[in-house]
Amino acid sequence: PSLVRPGADDLERAAEAALRPRRLDEFVGQRVVRDQLSLVLQAARQRDRAPDHVLLSGPPGLGKTTLAMIIAAELGTSLRITSGPAIQHAGDLAAVLSSLEEGEVLFLDEIHRLARPAEELLYVAMEDFRVDVVVGKGAGASAIPLALPPFTVVGATTRAGLLPAPLRDRFGFTGHLDFYDAGELEQVLTRSAGLLGVVLAPEAAAEIAGRSRGTPRIANRLLRRVRDWAEVRGDGSLDLAAARAALAVFEVDERGLDRLDRSVLEALCLRFGGGPVGLTTLAVAVGEEPETVETVAEPFLVREGLVGRTPRGRVALAPAWTHLGLPVPPSAGG
Ligand code: ADP
Repeated sequence: PSLVRPGADDLERAAEAALRPRRLDEFVGQRVVRDQLSLVLQAARQRDRAPDHVLLSGPPGLGKTTLAMIIAAELGTSLRITSGPAIQHAGDLAAVLSSLEEGEVLFLDEIHRLARPAEELLYVAMEDFRVDVVVGKGAGASAIPLALPPFTVVGATTRAGLLPAPLRDRFGFTGHLDFYDAGELEQVLTRSAGLLGVVLAPEAAAEIAGRSRGTPRIANRLLRRVRDWAEVRGDGSLDLAAARAALAVFEVDERGLDRLDRSVLEALCLRFGGGPVGLTTLAVAVGEEPETVETVAEPFLVREGLVGRTPRGRVALAPAWTHLGLPVPPSAGG
């Protein structure tokens, strides 16, 4: 798997746990969301009541899980974690909900992927603090209402717009997380280096930050690879030379593009004269599934203004040619 994809697997989650900020004031950047959350949490503490349900939206790796943990910590309560895809049946969710203790925080990751029946059960639980437990089967089945103690749902989604309106409306507060700027990522990296017990030179922090796609998860991951390089092939110091050498080994370029991203750009510019070219044709040219090109490489290339989507297909924009060190043809947009 690539170093610059924003998702995380279980192994990585373990490595991440050590680097998570535990309190709101350790959480870098996202000033607006931090400020809003701090208000919501303080008000809840003053009233000694569970706060309204919180929805966090934004791309993977920007800190949604971390914020859910912080919310529970700031409220002095415990966090229960599950996710939309992990809940197969409404009954699974009913079991989780009915085991919640008063004031607990339930983190529901990828909440937009909850199955419909579970979603309906969740509305009722969030609004009325009640689950209807179905006993029996078929015509003889009946629902027994079970009261729940007050609790707080923290839902996370990559796009708030994917949630059906009735579910979205159950959240009293929605925080939108945005990509981090280079200065913020440098802060994340410097903090992480401290926790890993290594000294990161400021120029190395800047270098890694510039290749991290605005995403703390990627920044922390690149930092771990730079540390590997420094310990195995360098003299142990995490300086600019070590950062550059490590990122060259892992084929992460100055802009944070990896091998797949670059081969998409190269195919677009060199084989198809900058396009437009259809997704399937482009995918064949780079030897990948169309879905991989569309969901893995393209979002970042489009966000960076390297690739454009037109009704007739994908086109290379001027910065793509420049990035590959090629002259920009007069026809290139962007
Ligand atoms: P998400 O749930 O949005 O996918 P996570 O909360 O799992 O993202 O964050 C991924 C990694 O990035 C974690 O190791 C976390 O500690 C780190 N991280 C995310 N946001 C911040 C931040 N604002 N400050 C410091 N570290 C952060």
